[in-house]
Order: sequence, then structure tokens, then C-alpha cells
Amino acid sequence: MIARVVVDVPASSTDRLFDYEIPERFTETVQVGTRVTVPFGPRKIQGFVVDIKDKPDTERKLKTINDVRDVEPVLTEELIHLGFWMAEQTACFAISAFQAMLPAALKASYKKEIRVCEGNEPELPEPLQTLFSSGRRVLWDDVAKEAGDLLPAIQRHVRTGELEVVHHVRDGMGKKTERYVLPAVKKDRLIEERKALSDRAFQQKRVLDFFVESDEPVLLKELLVAIDTSRATVNALVKKGLLKQEDRETYRDPYRENSFRPSKPLRLTEEQEAAIAPIAAAVSKGVHETILLHGVTGSGKTEIYLQAIADVLRRGREAIVLVPEIALTPQMVSRFKGRFGSQVAVLHSGLSKGEKYDEWRKIQRREVTVAVGARSAVFAPFSNIGLIIIDEEHESSYKQEETPRYHARDVAIRRGEAHRCPVVLGSATPALETYARAEKKVYRLASLKERINRKALPAVQVVDMRQELRNDNRSMFSSLLFDALKQRIAAGQQSVLLLNRRGFSTFLMCRDCGFVPECPHCDISLTYHKNVSALKCHYCGYKQSPPDACPSCESTYIRFFGTGTQRVEEELAKVLPEARVIRMDVDTTSRKGMHEKLLRTFADRKADILLGTQMIAKGLDFPNVTLVGVLAADSMLHLPDFRSAERTFQLLTQVSGRAGRHELPGEVVVQSYTPSHYSIELASRHDYMTFYQKEMEQRRLRKYPPYYFLALVTVSDPDVTKTAAIAEKIAAHLKGALTERAIILGPVTAAIPRIKDRYRYQCVIKYKREPELIRALKEIQEHYGKPAQNKDLQISIDLTPQLLM
Ligand code: ADP
Ligand code: ZN
Ligand code: ZN
Repeated sequence: MIARVVVDVPASSTDRLFDYEIPERFTETVQVGTRVTVPFGPRKIQGFVVDIKDKPDTERKLKTINDVRDVEPVLTEELIHLGFWMAEQTACFAISAFQAMLPAALKASYKKEIRVCEGNEPELPEPLQTLFSSGRRVLWDDVAKEAGDLLPAIQRHVRTGELEVVHHVRDGMGKKTERYVLPAVKKDRLIEERKALSDRAFQQKRVLDFFVESDEPVLLKELLVAIDTSRATVNALVKKGLLKQEDRETYRDPYRENSFRPSKPLRLTEEQEAAIAPIAAAVSKGVHETILLHGVTGSGKTEIYLQAIADVLRRGREAIVLVPEIALTPQMVSRFKGRFGSQVAVLHSGLSKGEKYDEWRKIQRREVTVAVGARSAVFAPFSNIGLIIIDEEHESSYKQEETPRYHARDVAIRRGEAHRCPVVLGSATPALETYARAEKKVYRLASLKERINRKALPAVQVVDMRQELRNDNRSMFSSLLFDALKQRIAAGQQSVLLLNRRGFSTFLMCRDCGFVPECPHCDISLTYHKNVSALKCHYCGYKQSPPDACPSCESTYIRFFGTGTQRVEEELAKVLPEARVIRMDVDTTSRKGMHEKLLRTFADRKADILLGTQMIAKGLDFPNVTLVGVLAADSMLHLPDFRSAERTFQLLTQVSGRAGRHELPGEVVVQSYTPSHYSIELASRHDYMTFYQKEMEQRRLRKYPPYYFLALVTVSDPDVTKTAAIAEKIAAHLKGALTERAIILGPVTAAIPRIKDRYRYQCVIKYKREPELIRALKEIQEHYGKPAQNKDLQISIDLTPQLLM
């Protein structure tokens, strides 16, 4: 038998299949989707088996597989197809696509153990009995090296549940174990011993009664509660040799501590009924369809997701729900766990590697049927998917900004086709590309125009900050916002203050000559961090202490400038000293668990104002919040990016949606220096449709998506002349390879011309239909990506660029 293998060497010369002979002892173990170790030149490397065939293509003697890395395949056949498709679509190597689908714990060289599951020792056949005779566990590597012929038998017993494979993930958390108690002797012996006990030992009798009735292992702490006894009593019986205790590994379930109130399906409104109908129809027919669920904030989209998932689970199929990373709050998770309980696995970056691996393993073993997670959860290794949901589908975090540069929306749709199931894209502010496809009937459109209970969308007032300045208000709060905040504190209500930080941070500036300190390695200004009194580069981490005098003109009038959350917090302390403020930004939430802790404090009404960056704009739902203030609505508008108006509209709509979701009506105050910009004005009127039409017109005129597709090629190298020259050659190559209809812009220096001492040039390709594009891009990669000639040169290719910077 021959295995076709994709080897773990990400290079164009190795981006193909290599054939290896499967040695006799591995014929049962090696399957499509297992990882193997193979000889490759002088080395041994890892690879994925993607196909198995009977006969080799050549007469040549093939090399033989050295070792098998997995008992059960880590990739399904569907995921393997998906990987090749991604490699084609994103112009990456197949190996990079496969690696992106697995949890980090599987990628590194973690030690793997085979263990006998509880109580199964006697059932194992002979050679295995001997293998496990010295303990219930053996190291995988030892078996593979010395007793490879046992692997097929081991594999069979893994499938039947008598053995299991456990990865040791060292991530500081250690393995979580819990203590179990179980009988150490047969039942009749327990009954005998119980009779022999004196009347005074009634506590011990109760414990023995418990195990006479059922000899299953129980959690010690549950036993103590169940029969109201003490640890000492149990220990006494252990000493007598009647019971034994065992520590067993449990899943590290980061959410178990929280209690999830079970929730029941709500009766859908008429609008919701109409919106769920096409989803239910596609599910019952078993056909793929992409459905855009366009519903204003608070219109009950999540309830639709929940009921559609319930329907899918009733049919014995599985569901994937994608949620933007920053919206994956305990509040969001509890809505799914509350409805589906332990059927839900949660995958997001806040988990440790071990926790993530545990959640992934639950999916792989079909112990759960719903996966909720951020971008990479789209690769959940289910085999019978009935529904994929992408909430807030317009979010840019669904695009991965490193290789493989995939967009989760595209991957989800591809998987939906493979599993013949619907993909639901939910949003109050769909991406222009998405809405345009719905308009063209490529996607089906389902709309929710009203909030639940016909609750009004909050009134939004836009304040012209230029006018405030003219009225001599130099504070960062307009008088309207200031009064509104004061009023909320007096009334015992809460407020949310959003500072849009992207492209708007604190930097030092000389007030005399205008000098701004920049990073010596990247062409961007350094950000001032007050708590550690340092200037830091957000791209490369470079750090220096702030100068006392301007390096350029020696003036001592060099001060920080711009508005960071810290500064807002300080200003609040000055002007509203009575306000209890919680600040949420990358600095205050980088420690594990802090995000949840701060939100809980706010939910418990122990603070009046929640001040934060984008991370507070989504998914939060606090009944007592009646005011939302946006401090700098236009800070994003001026980024050199064609989506800046769309992003501004989306953010403002999102954040306004946080107010007045419950009984109390909500009010939103938006501060802006360009209040008449259509994205701000239309967001304040909750008018998506007009915004869509206006923005589409802009895109049409400027030849941007959705009218054109984009591809972005970024060339970087420490040598600026070389970078420019190669970018030139690449542009010329593209011009030759593509049709005349393709528009090739550049090369130009990137909006950030240098990062980490590497100069950056870009070419943008705008196109409608270019069958040769992928091939041309791969040629470029192949030609210039050869490390021998151009050691430092990097070429990155992005076929779904979100930012042109
Ligand atoms: P969205 O996801 O569109 O922002 P949600 O699903 O969060 O909206 O719904 C907003 C609120 O309305 C939630 O508190 C939810 O529990 C409630 N809700 C949703 N559907 C119904 C319904 N059919 N009947 C009553 N309340 C509902
Ligand atoms: Zn830097
Ligand atoms: Zn100066």
C-alpha cells in the first residue's frame, strides 16, 4: 500500500504529494488524515496522509513511512479537500492550510500517551496485556519505535473505547485531575464487611451501602454531599482496602465554574418565524444555501440561531457558530450553554493551549454537537454538519491576517457546500460584499426590521465638536454628553463610553516645532504609555523613555497628545469625581480572566461608566445601560483605507445597539469633527439601506469591492532599493500575465512604509475575472520566494485584503 503525503516543509518545491510505502505493521493504522513521520532527504519530517492507493505510479523503489503520529486521523477527508481548496484560493501551501486547522497543542511535539480506560484491563487481549502490565499507560513514541506491530490492535481498542490517547500539553496549567472513589473489592465482599461493622460505624455503613447499590466510580466531592459523610470516613474504608481513590484527568472546562441558567426556546415573533423559515427549509431538504439574516440590533437574531440549531440537533447533525473574538464574552457563551448545556464546545483565543485542545478533542470524539468559537472554529472537525452560523458576519476579525490568509466566511460556505447545509450570515450591518450578493440573489435574504417588542432604536444625537471648541469648551466631553453622564449617575443608571482607538492613540508631540518621536525601525509614531512612562512601538515592541526635551528643537514643551483611554479616565476623575469608572482596553484586559471580571463588576452595577475601546462595542447586553457615548466617531474615517466609511458606520451602529435594550429607553451621543459625513449621519438615523446605496456608488466609481475583486502583493526587505526593484518586476510580470481588463496599481510604498526595519512596497490588483491570476501569483511566489537567492525577501499575497496598509 502506498500513502500519498503532504510534507511539513512550507516551500514551493515541496508543495506537492510525495509517495511512501506503508510498512506491513502500519497498514491498519495509516489512514487518510493521519500524520506520519517520513524520511525526507537526510531528515525525518512530519506529514499528512491525504490519500492511500494500492499501487505506486513508478517502478522506483519508494521510501517507507517511519512512524505514525496519530491513532485516529486528525483531519477528515472533507477537511483535506478543504485544505487543498484553501491552498488554491489563498495562494498558500497545502501544508499551511492543514496546520491552520489543528489546535496548537497538536502541532508541537507534545508527548503522547496511550492509556487503558478505567476498568478495562481484563478485556484486553494478550500482547496488550503485557504492554500495559507495568502500569496503565505507555508512551506513544516508545510503542511506535519498539512495538509498531501492536498499533493496529491499539487502534481497534481506541475505537471501542478501552484505550485512549492523551496529549500532554504543558502550558503552565498542568493537567486538571479530580479525585474519584470506587470499590476495591467485589460486591459480596462489601456486603460481608458491612455486616461485620459495629453499629457505631453507621457512617461507614452508609458509604458501603452506596457502593453495594452501584459500584461505579463517583467523584469524591459528590459522594460526600450525596450521603452527607466526611472525608475521614471514606479514608478509613480506603485504609481497610475496601475502597480505592483515583485521580482522573478531567477536561479543563473554563466555563464550568459559571453556572448557566438553562433557557427554553421563546415563542418566535411573526418576523422571526418568517426569517427562520428558509433556514429550516434548507435544513430539512439537506441543501446548501447561504442566507443573509439582516436584522437590526436587538431584533432576536440570536434566538433564531438557537432554534435553528435545536432543529439541526434533533436531526442528529452538528452545528458551528462563529462569533467575533471580542464578542465571545461569557454573556454570549452562556446563551448557547444555557440552551444546549454540555453539548457545546467553546473555542477562542482566551483559552490556554490545553483548554483549546480539550475542547477540540470533544468535537473530534463527537462528545459535543455544537462548536461556538472565533475564526478558527470554522475548522471544527465535525463530520455531519447541519448548519453553520456566522454572527456579525461583517467583522474584519474573520479574516486571518497571516498565512493562510483565509476569510472564515468563504471557508464556511465551502464547508456548507460539502455538507449540504445552510450557512447563515447574521448582521445588523452586513458587509457591502454580502449585501450585494443577497441583492443579486446569490444569497437568500431574510430581514428583521424591528426590535423585539417593537422597542424603539435609541435616539442618536451627533455633536459637532468644532462648535464646542468655538463655544470655548476644550474638554473632551461635549456639554451634552457631560450633562447626560451626570444625569445617569444621579439616576443610578449606567453609561458606556467608547473611544475608538484604532489610528487614534496617545503620542508625544513638541508643541513648538511639531516633532513627533517615531520608531527607529518602523515608520510610525510611538505610543505613549503613561503607567510605565514609556514610548512603545505597536508594531515591533521597541521601547524608549520619553525625552525631557524635544530632540529636534530642544524645547521642553513636549507633551503627549491624542486621546487614549487612560487620558479619558483621568479626565473623568477630574470632572466627574463621583463616577465609578471601569476601563477596558488591551492594557487592563491582557491578564487572563480580567475581561470577564471587569464585565461582571459592571453587570453587578458596581460601576457607573464602562469606558473602553472597540472591545466593548459588541455582544454586551446590560439592562441598566441607558446612555452610550462615542468620543471620537471619526477617528477611523481618516485611515487610508477604502473601507473606512463602512467600518465607521458599522461601529457606530453596533455601539448604539448597546443602549436601551430593555425596559429603560436608551440615548446615544456621538461626538465628531465631521458630523455631516454620510457614515456618521446615516448611522445616527439607523439607516443601513441608504448607507449601502451611497457607499456602493462610491465603490463603483472608485472600482473597489464588491464591483471589483482585490488582490494585494506586499514585498518587503531590509534593502529599500531591492524592495522597490523587485516590486517593479512583480508588477511587470502581472501585467504580462493578466488580461487587459485587470487594473494593476503600483508598486507604491505601503501606507506603513517600514515595519521592523523592512521596507514595504505594494501592488494592488483590481479585477473581475482573471483565470490566470492564481497561477501568476504562484509563479511570483516560486520565482522570488526561493530563500537561496533572496534570503531576506518576503512576499505576501492576500486575495481577500481587509486593509490596504
Ligand atoms: P440580536 O441578536 O438580534 O441583537 P437578541 O437575540 O439578542 O437580538 O434578542 C434581543 C432580546 O430579545 C434578547 O433579550 C432576547 O432574549 C429577546 N428575544 C428574542 N426573541 C424573542 C421572542 N421571540 N420573544 C421574546 N423575547 C425575545
Ligand atoms: Zn517599531
Ligand atoms: Zn521641537
